Amino acid sequence: MPELPEVETVRRDIEAVYIGDRLQSVEVSGPRTVRRHPAPLLRQIEGLVLTRTARWGKYLMLDWSGGRRLVVHLRMSGQLRHATEGSELVAHTHAVLRFARAGELRFVDPRTFGELFIPGTSGTPGTSGTPGTPGGPADAELAHMGPDALQVGAAHLAALFAGHRAPLKALLTDQRVVAGIGNIYADEICFAAGVRPDRAGRDVSRGQVRRLAAATLEVLGRAIEARGSTLADRRYCDLYGRPGSFQDQHCVYARAGAPCKTCGRPVERAGFGARRAYLCRRCQR
Ligand SMILES: [Zn+2]
Repeated sequence: MPELPEVETVRRDIEAVYIGDRLQSVEVSGPRTVRRHPAPLLRQIEGLVLTRTARWGKYLMLDWSGGRRLVVHLRMSGQLRHATEGSELVAHTHAVLRFARAGELRFVDPRTFGELFIPGTSGTPGTSGTPGTPGGPADAELAHMGPDALQVGAAHLAALFAGHRAPLKALLTDQRVVAGIGNIYADEICFAAGVRPDRAGRDVSRGQVRRLAAATLEVLGRAIEARGSTLADRRYCDLYGRPGSFQDQHCVYARAGAPCKTCGRPVERAGFGARRAYLCRRCQR
């Protein structure tokens, strides 16, 4: 599933191609892709100019002239792809945004868990202000989301972990606690910080919290530079259908049995409660 670095890569790609361009039409062929409100509501953004893009956690925001916002969540397998106007549609294309100059922006999603929606459509109007403008059921998830993972410091993390019995991995991947981290980067961040992912939040020491905060920025930053992680299932590709390369830098994720890059001991895939995580038992405490 695409996480913060993958969504950020797509956001930067979109920014480079479509900013300042006018949206001519929106066509939706996959009803599940626009399931939070009636699909024709998407046509509210037709004729508007894309003025800005933003990202909060794994959510991508496209802001238009007139203060309209379109939110995209890729979830399991959603991809945003650039295409020339009228070129052949690949399988599982569920929405096509046709621009005046830059061609088309297509939403492709084999598993159909991904979605597009205009926030605030059942309450206050969607604006380009704060990402979580509460406006109705469509916005409940955004309204309850924690700070973006690139914005949290050690003091904030310490407060979020304090008193929690839940394991670190569960806390790091809970979007209400920190937004943007999923299975891959939680494991890589815990390894980079030298902290076991099954350690209870309340048992994480101050030194470990500082290392986790630093590792979050460092790992996510390197992953963005490498244009994200594309696993064997190829669920994530960039705007041009190209894979990322951060998977080659993974230290633990999906490396069970392979030697730890630091100490040589085989990486383990451990289960705790309903969760699983890859870790090195020698390097992580
Ligand atoms: Zn190790």
